[in-house]
Amino acid sequence: MNNNFIQYQVNLADPSGHRFHILLTVPQPNPAGQTLSLPAWIPGSYLIRDFARQIETIQAYDDSGLITINKTDSNTWQCAPAQGSLHIEYTVYAWDLSVRGAHFDETHAFFNGTSLFLCVTDQADKPCLLDLKKPVSFGTDWKVYTSLPLHQDTEEYGFGLYQAPNYDALIDYPVEIGTPQVTRFNAYGAEHEFVITGVVPGLDLNRIAFDAHKICATQIELFEPETRQAPFLDSAQKYTFLTMVTGDGYGGLEHRASTALMINRKDLPTIDNKPGDGYANFLGLVSHEYFHTWNVKRIKPAVFAPYDLNQPNFTELLWVFEGFTSYYDDMMLLRSAVIDEKRYFELLARNFDHVLRGQGRFKQSIAASSFDAWTRYYKQDENSPNALVSYYTKGALFAMALDLELRWQTDNAKGLDDVMRFMWDQYGRGFYQGQSQGIAENSMPDIIEQATGVDLSEFIQCYAYGTEDIPFHDIFARVGISLNQTTPDPFPGLDIRFKNDTGGIRILTAYENGVAHKAGLSAGDLIIAIDGLRSSNEDELKNLLAAYQAGQTITIHVFRRDELRQFKLTLKAPKATKHHIERIAQV
Ligand code: ZN
Repeated sequence: MNNNFIQYQVNLADPSGHRFHILLTVPQPNPAGQTLSLPAWIPGSYLIRDFARQIETIQAYDDSGLITINKTDSNTWQCAPAQGSLHIEYTVYAWDLSVRGAHFDETHAFFNGTSLFLCVTDQADKPCLLDLKKPVSFGTDWKVYTSLPLHQDTEEYGFGLYQAPNYDALIDYPVEIGTPQVTRFNAYGAEHEFVITGVVPGLDLNRIAFDAHKICATQIELFEPETRQAPFLDSAQKYTFLTMVTGDGYGGLEHRASTALMINRKDLPTIDNKPGDGYANFLGLVSHEYFHTWNVKRIKPAVFAPYDLNQPNFTELLWVFEGFTSYYDDMMLLRSAVIDEKRYFELLARNFDHVLRGQGRFKQSIAASSFDAWTRYYKQDENSPNALVSYYTKGALFAMALDLELRWQTDNAKGLDDVMRFMWDQYGRGFYQGQSQGIAENSMPDIIEQATGVDLSEFIQCYAYGTEDIPFHDIFARVGISLNQTTPDPFPGLDIRFKNDTGGIRILTAYENGVAHKAGLSAGDLIIAIDGLRSSNEDELKNLLAAYQAGQTITIHVFRRDELRQFKLTLKAPKATKHHIERIAQV
């Protein structure tokens, strides 16, 4: 064994108990005693998750036997000085069915390195070996799916040795092991692989490969119009979409040469059925995560270069990395002709519905929302629509506004594509060769001006760092597009978000300055009656309200903390909260 490698042996030890056994070997530990830590968060998901709480047992030994290992904080361990190499043996509980964690049972194993691999303090720049041990008593037909590069004689999809140039790379390649359905496609000479875990009868793999190919090729054309070079070839031989199918999943997490996705079974295409509306959501997610291969995995904020995995890393720039990516995800579906313009406008309209639904957008800018992602966007509660704005959805609308403003001011000679290519040239392409320190916090106005010759600093100050609504009616009018609002329901509403619950209707959010808020109703209240008539579910509520006009006052009975309460509420005309976008002229 090469003495330079830090080695992580992974044993699929206990599928029914969901436990991995890990053996970490450090050839040259710190002579004064080695420190080790597990990441507190996973890049791309901005919340402290304390993965170390899943480490159940841990012991350390050297060439002459057991040595002391003590925990010094929530995710750090200190070993006594070791003679020769240091070995750490530990078990990790893996029953988190998400793109962020680790999950292991009799059907498959999935893990992110952030859940399994202790970082050797002060040796994070050393090359790492992953040694995946083949199980003996189960999973004899299992194969390994990851874009982590193979080491020496390991066969593609085989158990055995894989390698990474350093710790940061090691934890950036999730691994799926099992018997998934797999399809492959080649985009401009680069291998792509779709790995789908979970039962999907009649899954149309060819359709997925066909559409994903178009999306990936269109993105490569955007960033590399001349060379058509795929972005991940600096880190891997192939790009892997690791997809877990469940009954209600939706989400993704980006990596340098792969992504982990969670997909709702009914959003996937089957051979017998035309894909439904959910299929565009699935392709949007595919597009979103692939776009991150450039935007955030290589073009990234300076504060992420490198990440500090022990604490939150604050940046005001997630509107660039998530917002721009959210603009381009659906735009790439349109440009690659996976969806048509009508469908694109429908998806865009849902974005307007979301951004303009609450008062939070007047209290928080998308820059502030980025900065507070750790404690606010990722910790949403009943008051969030009233208190915060999404750097995803408003960030996507702002990216569109920037694009249209740049095109308007340059007579369509420049647009956001030029900004993306400029950032790719200056910050992204050479990132993993150490040629970029990332994007400084307040540099976007300069970057945009350098890329396009247009000074949009005031525009950015106003709508990214300020809270004014973006004047979309005017911006769209220039390009022959109309934006209209209608009321989703023909009867007065209560200005609440709600769900059916046992015995009544549970208020999830009372929108600020809405009629329910003004009447004294609150999130958590269980509505049971309107003017003395039972109203125990959405249908009953709508039927009752349909008989009233704006201006009338009703009595609402609710339970709050099991106590019956009564409120007087004066109805208002329903709000026009549903958006419609249409092309009205070709310009
Ligand atoms: Zn994203």
